[in-house]
Amino acid sequence: MTTDFNGLGLSTKVIEAVAAAGYSKPTDIQAQAIPHVLQKKDIIGIAQTGTGKTASFVLPMLTLLESGRARARMPRTLILEPTRELAAQVHENFEKYGKNHRLSVALLIGGVSFEEQNKVLDRGADVLIATPGRMLDQFERGRILLTGVDILVIDEADRMLDMGFIPDIERICGLLPPRRQTLFFSATMPPEIQRLTSRFLRDPVRIEVARQNSTADTIEQRLVKVSNKPEDKRAVLRQLIRAEGGLTNAIIFCNRKRDVATLARSLERHGFSAGGLHGDMEQKARTETLDAFKANRLTLLVASDVAARGLDIPAVSHVFNFDVPTHAEDYVHRIGRTGRAGRSGVAVTLATPADGKYVDAITSLIRKDIPEVKPEGGAAEASTGPGETEERAPRTSRRTRGNRTEKTERSERQPEADRTPRAEQPPRAERAPRPEQPQRAERAETAPRADQAARPEREKPRRAHREDRFEEPSTSEGVDAKSPFGADGPVPAFLLRASKLS
Ligand code: AMP
Repeated sequence: MTTDFNGLGLSTKVIEAVAAAGYSKPTDIQAQAIPHVLQKKDIIGIAQTGTGKTASFVLPMLTLLESGRARARMPRTLILEPTRELAAQVHENFEKYGKNHRLSVALLIGGVSFEEQNKVLDRGADVLIATPGRMLDQFERGRILLTGVDILVIDEADRMLDMGFIPDIERICGLLPPRRQTLFFSATMPPEIQRLTSRFLRDPVRIEVARQNSTADTIEQRLVKVSNKPEDKRAVLRQLIRAEGGLTNAIIFCNRKRDVATLARSLERHGFSAGGLHGDMEQKARTETLDAFKANRLTLLVASDVAARGLDIPAVSHVFNFDVPTHAEDYVHRIGRTGRAGRSGVAVTLATPADGKYVDAITSLIRKDIPEVKPEGGAAEASTGPGETEERAPRTSRRTRGNRTEKTERSERQPEADRTPRAEQPPRAERAPRPEQPQRAERAETAPRADQAARPEREKPRRAHREDRFEEPSTSEGVDAKSPFGADGPVPAFLLRASKLS
């Protein structure tokens, strides 16, 4: 196998940008996919995030785009991503690897005003990165002509399936020139996805890189047994965080969205620098929280699997599983957020008596036991500390809104200034835990209704109609399946801009 980037057929500009990014060796998926992409072959890449799959299509696309130029409203290439964050991440990849090119890259995602997006499209985009819903909205408005698309990338296809985007994908494929090149990526290949590939790909090269089911040796794993009571779990978590000498930052995973909000507020109230990230948050708050965490302005990121999946957050010293994940692969994925690139990391999982079967599934998947440890100082601190009484049930003063209806669509079209951002606490700037604060009443504007039962991820419906879908699955986290989050807040500048890569 090729051991450096020189033998793959990439252009000099791309190789220079890769070297500047500090990568000396292609990953498996890159080494296998890049030569085929450059030969204009269709690809089925079976690979998860973290394998370097983004660069496996971005690098050869940059090389291929060096000839030809963009025309107004006729993008030359189209990349479909299931979520706004992933779309933004691919955009960042184009900026990083395309720094020696002069290409125009447009981002077309929900939560961004149409006006801004139209300006970019009117100027002509070499690369259009879009979520399927917004892409079709723009097409229906006559803002995009898809007849000039030479390369289509469908990324994270299995997530698209989970989120009900497959009908949109089928429609988009039908709108593109049949003689295009299609690069298709998915972590798994369920039958619905296989049907899609056999319908829309021509003689594809299939590339599969090893599914991650082992955990890096650089991660120290621990199991802490706790009671079922959420307030006890929170108390143990605080104790563990305080006892960790080398904690520089941590991601704390919860299984449910409503627990993300509750736990983040609780930690804040107890003096920690903490923020929450889950699918029902408006886009602005998500971006702010993520940016603050990446920039070390926020120490603890409380997240749901869905919100955190696929996000590239380097250098995390600790991962805490506030809940044991119900799917064993999620454990591997979660703890893989620490101990990256040879660094050491710590992953601590809180397990209640009811979690036994999930822990067993994890240990059999990773083929090792997770050593049990007791929190320092023995039993957990008293669970009735500051703020505990008000943490139990998040109040909701406003119901998360209903389906993506005409009304929602209309509200997306309103100018940014007309939109009312939801109350969301900005992330705290402090990095170290602060002294305990006096209790204060929390407003739970964004908290979902507590009376709706959680449903496990695999049970969530695969939505079939465009009107019914959003850009993130939500039923998995069990609160409100129909929240059109993100449509009503101001939009961060980086999501609005078109970039001239130069
Ligand atoms: P991805 O699977 O595309 O989300 O990439 C996961 C991470 O791997 C990102 O932080 C990339 O910047 C990084 N990466 C991509 N290609 C390479 C490479 N050849 N060597 C080292 N890291 C890489």
